[in-house]
Amino acid sequence: MATVGQFKGTTVCGAAVLGAVLMHAPVQAQTVDPRIEKLVSSVSEARLQTLLQKLSSFKTRNTCSDPNAPDSIGAARQWIYDELKRTSPKLQVSFDTHQVQSIRGCQGTIELRNVMAVLPGKSPRRIYVSGHYDSLNLGSGGQQTSNAGATGAQGATGARGAQGAQTRPGAEPQAPGEPPAPNQQRPARDPNVVAPGANDDGSGTVLSMELARVFAESGIEFDATLVFMTVAGEEQGLVGAGAHAKKAKDEKTPIQAWFNNDIVGGSHGGDGSIDGATIRIYSEGPEDSPSRSLAQFAARIGAIYVPNHRVRLMARRDRFSRGGDHSALNAQGFAAIGFRESRENYAKQHGPNDTIDGVDFTYLAQNARVNAAGMATLALAPPPPVVTNERGAPSIDRRSSGYDAHLRWQASPGAAGYRIFWRNAWAPDWEHELTVGAVTEYTFPKMNIDDWVFGVAAIDAAGHESSISAYVTPPRAATEGGQ
Ligand SMILES: [Zn+2]
Repeated sequence: MATVGQFKGTTVCGAAVLGAVLMHAPVQAQTVDPRIEKLVSSVSEARLQTLLQKLSSFKTRNTCSDPNAPDSIGAARQWIYDELKRTSPKLQVSFDTHQVQSIRGCQGTIELRNVMAVLPGKSPRRIYVSGHYDSLNLGSGGQQTSNAGATGAQGATGARGAQGAQTRPGAEPQAPGEPPAPNQQRPARDPNVVAPGANDDGSGTVLSMELARVFAESGIEFDATLVFMTVAGEEQGLVGAGAHAKKAKDEKTPIQAWFNNDIVGGSHGGDGSIDGATIRIYSEGPEDSPSRSLAQFAARIGAIYVPNHRVRLMARRDRFSRGGDHSALNAQGFAAIGFRESRENYAKQHGPNDTIDGVDFTYLAQNARVNAAGMATLALAPPPPVVTNERGAPSIDRRSSGYDAHLRWQASPGAAGYRIFWRNAWAPDWEHELTVGAVTEYTFPKMNIDDWVFGVAAIDAAGHESSISAYVTPPRAATEGGQ
């Protein structure tokens, strides 16, 4: 195994550790696991293409379309189900069905079906990858017209300004209790017109289906349970992902991480730019939130296993006046991130011309590999340490001296050791790291906790490292009842 060090790292034998039980289990730095390398390289460009050819051949996958019409959403979701089922006997495939009323654009109650494939792990904690299989045809220029209208009417003055001017009845999540945005009150369009949705979001759908095959065939026994999800109702306001997230919260399903992929297949932007070597990840703040930490993790692991494909981290929930299913998970308190191609072509979104010729399969395969590397590492590593007390406050103090940094965390199952990270309190990314043994507290003498941000990750004996849990004060709304 090759050792990969991103930061200046040292293994410390406890000279500075005060009051901790010292167990000098050998802990390796984040390693390149040849099994993950093999898994990542087994993503097939050809299969992505075969899957998307079929998926985009259905006339429409609009959530409000007639599910009994041939060539419609009913046939499409059944095909996804059958394809996942025949992929591997290790996958537990099911419809995640919800009866939903008052979906905008739909008549009456809709039976909405997400399609999910579960690859059981040793522990119940779950890591998801998703795309939305529903499609949309807005008519009259699709997303190009919507975007031009948004910037032309009010200028790009911020999320609120752009949101107010948007004309797309698509997926903008609302804050609870917020009145519907103007776009959501528009009369229904004909949901049965042609909507191939090859890139939006056939690309994310077949990415999730291909990763189901790759993980199931890898022969690796993962600690975490992996879920390969294709959802419906995204274009009507994240309805399918929202219903799943709410149920998961109610039933206390341990969703550790959710990788949402939506419009991830195009390398040619509508402005003539070309970029087949980077992918954007959007994540909800504030800094050091579980979603931001997950985004950083995906970028870090992606750089190790797919070094010629770069993740561009975006410190915002999503693009202006656009949304995606990760936000429905965030709304229920789960860590979730949104992958987006780097150069979009708005003229080929939400219209009849979102066809397969707009998808670059070499690029889509690279994006699938970045997802695969992060998911596999996360699923083999121990869960990230819990660094808060039962009231949600960070377990950090100044010891009796008043001038030391004393960190405590709960032991993560399967951890052979931990890695502590820190940075200047104004720095955007971790600057230093220190590998410690199987301890659950650590003291840095004469480091003022007001001047530094600290975090800790769990590592197993083979060197798989979790995402980083940071010692941060919870947002004011969480501690003061939303005041
Ligand atoms: Zn979409």
